[in-house]
Amino acid sequence: MSVPYTHLRVRYTQHQNVYGSRAGPALGTGYTAGCYRNGIRRCDPPSAGRQLGERGRDAPKKGNQKMHVSTRTVCLLLGLAVAFGVASRAANADTQVEPTIALKMLNAQQQQFGQQVVKVTDNVYTAVGFHGANTSMIVGTDGVIIIDTLKGPTSAAKAAEAFRKYSDKPVKAIIYTHSHGDHIGGASAFIGDERPDIYATESFGSAEGVNKAVAPVKAKRNVRQFGRKLSPSESTNRGVAPANTDDSDGGKGFLAPTVKVPDSGLKTTIAGVEIEFHIGPGETDDAMFIWLPQNQVLFAGDNFYSSFPNLYAIRGTAYRDVLSWSESVAKMAELKPHVLVPGHTMPIRGEQTATAVLNDYSEAIRSVYDQTVRGINEGKSPDQLAHEVELPKRLKDKPYLIEFYGSVPHAVRAIYAGLLGWFDGNPTTLSPLEPKLKAKHIAELAGGTQELTEQMEAALAKQDYKWALELSDYLKWLHDGDKKRARKVKIEALRGLAAREYNAPNRNYYLSYANELESGQLSELWF
Ligand SMILES: [Zn+2]
Repeated sequence: MSVPYTHLRVRYTQHQNVYGSRAGPALGTGYTAGCYRNGIRRCDPPSAGRQLGERGRDAPKKGNQKMHVSTRTVCLLLGLAVAFGVASRAANADTQVEPTIALKMLNAQQQQFGQQVVKVTDNVYTAVGFHGANTSMIVGTDGVIIIDTLKGPTSAAKAAEAFRKYSDKPVKAIIYTHSHGDHIGGASAFIGDERPDIYATESFGSAEGVNKAVAPVKAKRNVRQFGRKLSPSESTNRGVAPANTDDSDGGKGFLAPTVKVPDSGLKTTIAGVEIEFHIGPGETDDAMFIWLPQNQVLFAGDNFYSSFPNLYAIRGTAYRDVLSWSESVAKMAELKPHVLVPGHTMPIRGEQTATAVLNDYSEAIRSVYDQTVRGINEGKSPDQLAHEVELPKRLKDKPYLIEFYGSVPHAVRAIYAGLLGWFDGNPTTLSPLEPKLKAKHIAELAGGTQELTEQMEAALAKQDYKWALELSDYLKWLHDGDKKRARKVKIEALRGLAAREYNAPNRNYYLSYANELESGQLSELWF
């Protein structure tokens, strides 16, 4: 698809206005499934950090981009990529583009988490890229306030040291915007002898409680979603965070909250700074956003970062209340912030821009929800809707709504399941054939197992990767099926999809699963 110059120019201007800041080299990350101790969700199981790489195993060498490209280059790339991405989604409702474009997009997004301390206002600083999430420092008259503390004390200590260049006042308060491990695990690194108040919502820690029973499988899927075991050459990033974080001390600096913010919110003064705590369920039910009325600075936590939001995480999550998330973001927009500080990615400046970004974000979430609900009431299945629902034209190419982290089709399926459960209303799916029998019938339909195998190989050769995957799955159930060939095809198809994927969790999952299959870690049934 050709992209008119004017189109690129518009995107460049828009992008620069939104972020308008320098970017440095990338460091660490950390998203979480989380673990519980004493009833409070604290950390992820430790996992190895990975170095940043630039391309998936099958991606062509041509077109790689080093990280230190100029903002203008980034924006041009993003514009180009978005144009391709939109074209692709319109046809396939997915996040598949040409391999070189996918890499350029992911590398452009990488500029959002280069390590640096951003001076937000005269007394507010945000450390970006010291781990996966952001941490902020507000300087008051006789002390400082820390908002979010990264995942572990090692990376938090580096951010704290960087903050100390701007103020050596004691820490009077620590605030957790929500309980995800990448925001709470490094608190101890920010304090010396001080015993600051630690603020969190009353429901703090409730975010993942219902999923504890399936922690073993969530841990596996977490490793895949974040590409924790990918080689440097396979790693790109995690959508709103870099790939190469040291997570080995995750949760070790956690300090339990000492002040519970009530459901009605809280307005107070800490270290001479007026500060407001607003309850705002979104990515987690226990989330709040923080408002500085004097500076007009808003700390969004993970209810906003520059990507389509992760309304569902493929590592496995309970239903995230999508409607509440949209409403919380709308409330944030009503504050008309002069600076919007996200939980991940770069701060966004300017009242008009920040307000417009928040309104767009809220509308995008709401639109996906409304379209899904409308489709459900028209009797459409999750499969149909996942291919039909898309962001309104006005929003789909906004740089802060590209599906680098969240995915519209995943969100649609999550909303369907969240509102109605697994049954799609079609009696065919009420009690379908068991997988082995279905595979047998499919083989018969193909003319036999050999023919099914040939169809699978042909699909791979045509780069019809999704169909190749489906056929390889049938073949694995057949007693006379060549499971080795099926496995090989599945691995190649997964890598083919990964190379074209700009949604980071999908890409990481495809590559990780391919590696697991190849190394023989998975059982005969590929689980
Ligand atoms: Zn986070």
